[in-house]
Amino acid sequence: MKELSYNIQNIAEIVGERTLLHRPNQNIKHLLTDSRKITDAKSSVFFALEGKRDAHQYINGLYAAGVRSFIITATNFPTDKCPDANFIWVKNALRAMQKLATSHRENFNYPVIGITGSNGKTMVKEWLYQLLVTEKEIIRSPKSYNSQMGVALSVWQMNHFYDLGIFEAGISTVGEMDALAQMIKPNIGVLTNIGAAHDEGFKNRTEKLQEKLKFFKNAEVVILNKGYIGESQNLKNIFTWSLTEKADLQVLSLHKKEGKTLIKAVFHQNEIAIKIPFTDHASVENAITCWATMLYLGYGQNIIEKRMMSLLPVKMRLELKKGINQTDIIDDSYNSDFSSLDIAIDFLNQQNQHPTKTLILSDISQSGIAEKELYQNIAQLIKNKGVKKFIGIGPSLKKHRSYFEEGNLFYDDTDDFLKNFDWESITNETILIKGARHFEFERISKKLSLKVHETVLEINLNAIVNNLNHYKRKLKPGVKLMAMVKAFAYGSGSEEIANLLQHNGVDYLSVAYADEGIELREAGITIPIMVLGPEISNFEAMINYNLEPEVYSLRILKAFADLVSKKKIKEQWIHIKLDTGMHRLGFMEDETEELLSFLKQHPTIKVKSMFSHLAASESDLHHDYTQQQIAEFEKITTNFETELGYTFLKHICNTSAISKWPNAQFDMVRLGIGLYGIEGIIEERNYLANVANLKTTISQIKSLKKGDSVGYGRNGVMQKDGMIATVKIGYADGFPRSLGNGNGEMLINNQRIKTIGNICMDMTMLDLSDFEVNIEDEVLVFGEDLSVYEMAQKLGTIPYEVITNISQRVKRVYYYE
Ligand SMILES: *Cc1c(COP(=O)(O)O)cnc(C)c1O
Repeated sequence: MKELSYNIQNIAEIVGERTLLHRPNQNIKHLLTDSRKITDAKSSVFFALEGKRDAHQYINGLYAAGVRSFIITATNFPTDKCPDANFIWVKNALRAMQKLATSHRENFNYPVIGITGSNGKTMVKEWLYQLLVTEKEIIRSPKSYNSQMGVALSVWQMNHFYDLGIFEAGISTVGEMDALAQMIKPNIGVLTNIGAAHDEGFKNRTEKLQEKLKFFKNAEVVILNKGYIGESQNLKNIFTWSLTEKADLQVLSLHKKEGKTLIKAVFHQNEIAIKIPFTDHASVENAITCWATMLYLGYGQNIIEKRMMSLLPVKMRLELKKGINQTDIIDDSYNSDFSSLDIAIDFLNQQNQHPTKTLILSDISQSGIAEKELYQNIAQLIKNKGVKKFIGIGPSLKKHRSYFEEGNLFYDDTDDFLKNFDWESITNETILIKGARHFEFERISKKLSLKVHETVLEINLNAIVNNLNHYKRKLKPGVKLMAMVKAFAYGSGSEEIANLLQHNGVDYLSVAYADEGIELREAGITIPIMVLGPEISNFEAMINYNLEPEVYSLRILKAFADLVSKKKIKEQWIHIKLDTGMHRLGFMEDETEELLSFLKQHPTIKVKSMFSHLAASESDLHHDYTQQQIAEFEKITTNFETELGYTFLKHICNTSAISKWPNAQFDMVRLGIGLYGIEGIIEERNYLANVANLKTTISQIKSLKKGDSVGYGRNGVMQKDGMIATVKIGYADGFPRSLGNGNGEMLINNQRIKTIGNICMDMTMLDLSDFEVNIEDEVLVFGEDLSVYEMAQKLGTIPYEVITNISQRVKRVYYYE
């Protein structure tokens, strides 16, 4: 059957209320929501989505880039600046996109599995894909595209080449499910675990469950854990599973051994079993859900058993890490389909560290699109997205090399590439490695990545964006946001984090020293940067790199003004720091008169902003003090604006003050620790996502006898016969010595395990007397499941110190889901 095609006229008929179509026959393939992610300008229609920033401002730029079709809401938009373009007016652009997806969905009669739940949606979706792909042509949501917009974009990918759809639907508050249900229209519903995720969006668990169940209104069956059924009587047809009670698939027992779980159950009075290569609780539940789905679909138990045993871990994440020869590596060695390629290339293009972008790609073993068309599309995508160097690995890519630009390299397989590639030819570039699993691209990634000392600090970039958006929502209209990336972005890594923040539209960055600012400029950061601690010796460099100094004393100001006049600079922006009570840096109130008269005499020096810092913004105890600081700040800045005759940005709020002192947001806030998922205000912590996981590995496990001593100074003594594990992190990595001798803990397989003996420089010993662990087990030092607050408390310090103390030799690995 032919692929469905749309022109803009067809789309206008589906969503439009009013139209201005200069090219009604323009063919439309792509729904564009982000002006930075154009795939093919001509065949894209841009949706000016509602958001914090008015998306209409991007239209002229998109027009210049070749986009000719726009769905907009502003009735008075000046369309004359875009002659020969198509405009469709709608009331709400997101709703219009959903309406289009809903209408598109109507064209297909093949079954669609719709998955919702709090946790496990992506894993169940990917596993069902792995389990069913042998005989089905499957279209599924890319990555975890399950939001109001993600679902629309996923459903839009449906076409007649497929014969099964698997989509996930995620909601965070009441009223969101209807649109998702209409677009996906699942025939087979799957409900995964209902956990605590997004609890804040609902009055209670029942309300959350009720909202989720709307998804299944028209499904022929819902597959779910029987435990959820009490509150879901209005479901028509259900297929249940349970670990504890009678159900369609009743699990009898779980046996975990050597990294595998044997799951025995009863189905239709027969005892059946599967074995999966995982032991963690979430994987077991998700595998049971998939098992139930396959049984419902009528698969024979012998096929199910075989496929369950070969389930692969679901890794939807892209990893960003440092590579050889000044490269940055984006590792996506596990997923290879066309839509995830598109997403990965966008992430590649978000990186500004190097002008050259390289893609190493394997054959895509995707069904659904004919091979020839697939590789034509890939070649086009690469060209459109400005990927400079392309390396194709695999027979199919090699066969279709004529679609690609001259000079691109092609290899038969991974071995051919590893053997014959000129490794010296790679330098100073960002390289995306993307391959299907059986190509084993992890071998390429290993060769290109810098050697990793096996302790890593994993940074979740989605979590940072989540936290950024959390604080953005708290800002009053028009308030700008400065993100603090001082001290190596609180230990997370300045360049990568600054790049992410720039991409996500923060207004300002702030660093502690000029050097840090220079590094950011050299890494392609172009947004304004304020330097908190400028030094007279590097003023010149600051001017050259367009870094804006914090001026905190007359001494600094005079030196700076001298340089500005010597260099005959016409206008130079500065930021003035007032000391309203922190008593660290800044002009005290009684110094402001002299400051003012100096500024009046030096009109080339312009105040860009005036700010102060709160000494105890999170504290109730010091409420009055904070209030006084704010009042003094307001008084001085008002006076300066009147006296200088112009306005400037005023800011005093750090992270905690954003929520606690909303009336002090003035023109800008300075967000620091909250970005990294940490808050002084306890109630706020629930809304933040964990950003960093510090992980290490075990070097050796050994058995000792009661009374044996462990480590330097023989401080640790075995209380009984048992094992210890030596792990690869010590005080030189940022695991302080005072956590030794049982004071500190690490997490292995969800077990909290205490240290024994003194912490060494590069190693720590853990007491396994009461625990069983394997040498290959991952060790969590702090993170999602072992909080950094707790570690800080044991150390008698604050999380700020713990995270900024992680040594530079600990590799930072960034991931993006
Ligand atoms: C570090 C810093 C901040 C950020 O503080 P958080 O508590 O991390 O939000 C804000 N302003 C100044 C001047 C700072 O030095």
